[in-house]
Amino acid sequence: MAGRILIVDPVATNRITLKVKLSAARYDAGLATGFSEALIASSALPPDLVIVGVSGNASGVEAISRIKNADLFATVPVVAISTETDTQGRLDLLRAGAEDVIERPMDDAFLLARLRSLLRARDATEELRLRDGTNKALGFYEGAATFEPPARVAIVASDLVEATAWRRALQAKTGHSVEVWSPEEALLSDTGANGADALILAVDCAGRPGSALTILPELRSRKGSRHAAVLAVLTVDNPAAAVMALDLGASDVMCSGFDAAELALRLGVQVQRKRDADRLRTSVRDGLKLAMTDPLTGLFNRRYALPHLGRMAARAQSLDRGFAVMIADLDRFKSVNDTYGHSGGDDVLVEVARRLLDNLRSVDLVARLGGEEFLIAMPETSLEKARIAAERLCRIMREKPVLLKDGRTEVPVTMSIGIAMGPVPAGQTSAICPSPVEALLHAADQALYRSKSEGRDQVTVSRTAA
Ligand code: GH3
Ligand code: MG
Ligand code: MG
Repeated sequence: MAGRILIVDPVATNRITLKVKLSAARYDAGLATGFSEALIASSALPPDLVIVGVSGNASGVEAISRIKNADLFATVPVVAISTETDTQGRLDLLRAGAEDVIERPMDDAFLLARLRSLLRARDATEELRLRDGTNKALGFYEGAATFEPPARVAIVASDLVEATAWRRALQAKTGHSVEVWSPEEALLSDTGANGADALILAVDCAGRPGSALTILPELRSRKGSRHAAVLAVLTVDNPAAAVMALDLGASDVMCSGFDAAELALRLGVQVQRKRDADRLRTSVRDGLKLAMTDPLTGLFNRRYALPHLGRMAARAQSLDRGFAVMIADLDRFKSVNDTYGHSGGDDVLVEVARRLLDNLRSVDLVARLGGEEFLIAMPETSLEKARIAAERLCRIMREKPVLLKDGRTEVPVTMSIGIAMGPVPAGQTSAICPSPVEALLHAADQALYRSKSEGRDQVTVSRTAA
């Protein structure tokens, strides 16, 4: 099925006719005569989209508002299908929260294109919401409501005189900042659509080359404009052009020509939606980053490092190449905290992490296992090379005290390291260390313990896995 759509309409013939059309387009269409039936029909599983049939202005606004304000439909797009609507009526329905208002008699191809585009947009945000929800459930989320500056909006048109008149009228109705670009300017990679939050394409429907619509696929595929809201304004009602605009990726289409008030309203909705999507994307990205890194040092964390080490071990095994695993631990770090305070200790950890990264190869994995303990995994490395690298790390810590953030206090540090070499022969895993990775870490830990007990600030190689 292409998606679940709930048809809410008090008129039986309207419901049936629409259901037939939607079923033919492979939608799963549910029916309700009004709000209460809509709630019941959706209680088990909310639909992906709701179509509300409206007639009189006031009752239509009421019907849309009730659906939009119900928690169940909070994130579900709503389309109004109306009989007799003038510009004001359409504005009222949009203001009440309808994503679009389609007039009877309607063009079926346009209706289906509109549904496709709304469902596509919803799928994308639902996917992000789901991932974001996972981040939140895992505790990797800090929401921040911030002040939002006016959005950057560009009217893209071949007829710059007309576009300038549109700009003036639109600017009077919106707080966003509106500019005018030719289609060529919109495609300039450094100035063009890069960075615009919304693009308004003036589509003259004459199908002339260079018309704003022809650059839509290009805009959608470019990094700088991929996520911009795109509103196509058809200067002449032309369902075929509207269908094309939607299928090429316009987020909204105005079929009834330019109207500043309606365009400002639609623009506001699209800008808000684009910002919500941006925020979700950032939150998902930050969540992923937080899930695998240690916030203090920026190094990978244990959760990321252990599976990574597992993959490195498997690869080394299959290629029959040696690799080294080290556990490095700062010496007497408790006394650093006792002497310089916890924040002094934190400064030391940050600097130690930096020194580790600066003095290892980019293919080496450096992770903070916890506290003042670090894991270093070096693929394709012999024991001799690993030992030299470890000795160098100890020297780098020892030779130069760490300067705290106060810019004055110098803290001497030393580090002890235990090395184990992989791959682990099959026979060397045990009940305590059933996996090769656990066996390696255990061996490196034992070696580290020997470095500590033999005076610290030194490197020990594990006897078992060497
Ligand atoms: P050893 O040479 O045997 O390793 O002694 P140590 O003092 O380094 O080891 P111990 O395990 O006794 O103490 C580690 C200390 O590290 C205790 C803990 O308070 C501190 N620590 C752990 N995590 C952090 C952190 O994120 N920041 C700071 N400042 N200190 C931390
Ligand atoms: Mg320590
Ligand atoms: Mg420790």
